[in-house]
Amino acid sequence: MKAHIVGGGFGGLAAAALLIRNAGVPGHDITIYEADEQLGGGFFLDGGPQSGYNLPGSVFDKEFRCAFDLLATIPSAADPNVSVKDQFFTFNNEHPFDDRTHIIDRDLHVVHGPRFGLSLCDSLALARVSVTPEAMLDGRRIEEFFSPRFFLTEFWLLWSTIMGSLPQHSAIEFRRYVNRFIYLFPDLSTMARVLRTPFNQHEAFINPLVAWLSPRGVNFLTGAFVQDIGFEPSLGRMTVNRFDYQLRDGATSSVAVAPEDVVLVTTGSQAADRSAGSMTEAPKPLDTGRSWALWKRLAQGRKEFGNPDAFFGAPRIAESRWVTFTVTTTSTEFIDQMTKLTGSEPGSGGLLTLKDSGWVLSLSIFHQPEVLDQPKGAFVWWGYGLYPERPGNYVTKRMDQCTGAEILREVLGHLRFEKKETIMESSICIPCNLPYVNNIWLARRRGDRPPVVPEGATNLGLIGQYVEVERDIAFTFEYSTRTAWEAIYRLLKRGPAPPPVYQGQFDPNALLAVLKVFVSQ
Ligand SMILES: Cc1cc2nc3c(=O)[nH]c(=O)nc-3n(C[C@H](O)[C@H](O)[C@H](O)COP(=O)(O)OP(=O)(O)OC[C@H]3O[C@@H](n4cnc5c(N)ncnc54)[C@H](O)[C@@H]3O)c2cc1C
Repeated sequence: MKAHIVGGGFGGLAAAALLIRNAGVPGHDITIYEADEQLGGGFFLDGGPQSGYNLPGSVFDKEFRCAFDLLATIPSAADPNVSVKDQFFTFNNEHPFDDRTHIIDRDLHVVHGPRFGLSLCDSLALARVSVTPEAMLDGRRIEEFFSPRFFLTEFWLLWSTIMGSLPQHSAIEFRRYVNRFIYLFPDLSTMARVLRTPFNQHEAFINPLVAWLSPRGVNFLTGAFVQDIGFEPSLGRMTVNRFDYQLRDGATSSVAVAPEDVVLVTTGSQAADRSAGSMTEAPKPLDTGRSWALWKRLAQGRKEFGNPDAFFGAPRIAESRWVTFTVTTTSTEFIDQMTKLTGSEPGSGGLLTLKDSGWVLSLSIFHQPEVLDQPKGAFVWWGYGLYPERPGNYVTKRMDQCTGAEILREVLGHLRFEKKETIMESSICIPCNLPYVNNIWLARRRGDRPPVVPEGATNLGLIGQYVEVERDIAFTFEYSTRTAWEAIYRLLKRGPAPPPVYQGQFDPNALLAVLKVFVSQ
């Protein structure tokens, strides 16, 4: 039996590890096909100290049950006797977030009030969404369930900048997030129970997984774009018998698939068509569509494969784009002034949101080093704009059309820091255009995301963020791991079933904590 995995992001790598660990498949019978030159997908790490790093921000929590179950098996790079899971939790126990200044207004005043500005009506509306069955939320938007005032509250700003949701986004996904993260409500401002990787996700998660898979014989084929999948003609059943892939030099190859083999396909990426700029250049938009091209092809004329157009394609970008930026700085001026402004030492403040900035900027000052080979004296921090298509206040352009220097000037303008020129000269700001990063939030209908095993499929599983599993929330490596685990469990019928999704609405401790927010704060 051979296993073919399309996509070398965390989901594809997790699938390979679970095939070995849960289903006893020998590593040398597993091949991962990755279209990019690098493994890691959304958990990317680009650039270097000279050109400036480019990496994603980091938001996790303790209830990522499938992912951490797997990572308990994987040794960390620092110490083979310490698992990646233990390294992660030890770091978070030793360095918890204690955000003292989460939101500031245009006068640099901290915004934080009782009950996060929520009225009793808002709280009831939240409770109503939490208990409404998903079938009744089909295709509906969050804004349909709340008054316009709700979207001006501190709660909404905290929520949307941590989780990514906008008023026009999916009520189904919002319900799932509310129920999943209800226990975080009291700590939204301090982010006390929000977790992050000890350093960037690529080195924290991707490298150790690859280091575990490689000696077990797993084959990694990078620069290999899977273009099409062929099925054995038969009534009511779908058995993959072939797939075609193209290599970086344009050469194509076809692989025969036996009925007892298994094919696991990542159907899309939040990092699809990602492009980076520099201090002097804005990111050039890409339009390759490669990350979801295979899904689109599979879904042509087959409704059991869902609807990729609900998430991908030019009309979707306006409601899903973020521009992130990673700053590598070699002077202490920025960090010193930031520490003074927020009262949080580097790494202990979660996000700083500049409420009145046109782009709705949020900044994250990482615990250092953020990159393991970062030179001594260098400092890496990160930020993103929730509304990158609006004009800035100091640079009156859309954020996605700005160079790194322009974005940094905008940030410094809002913060009113001294020694701006020293900061500019000692910093490299790399902007990164992510046109689809927030598309998991787009209003969707049931059936837009196909099931993990499409109807009739005998040896094909779908994995990643664009596949339907009950209750769980997307924009998480947990979701990708869960889909991989479920697909393997269902197709091979080996190993344990995935653990259940944590549901805060049934956890008395979580409910008590929420009650305290609404009643006693
Ligand atoms: C900026 C950013 C920040 C994020 N932060 C977090 C976070 O803090 N916490 C969290 O849990 N999650 C976060 N995520 C979500 C994150 O992407 C996922 O948790 C995780 O990386 C998903 O893994 P995946 O393998 O499903 O998808 P991806 O990581 O997107 O990987 C999919 C891979 O499949 C490849 N592929 C697609 N089609 C083909 C094909 N036909 N042939 C070959 N290869 C193909 C793509 O090239 C890509 O590399 C973030 C994402 C982004 C973009």
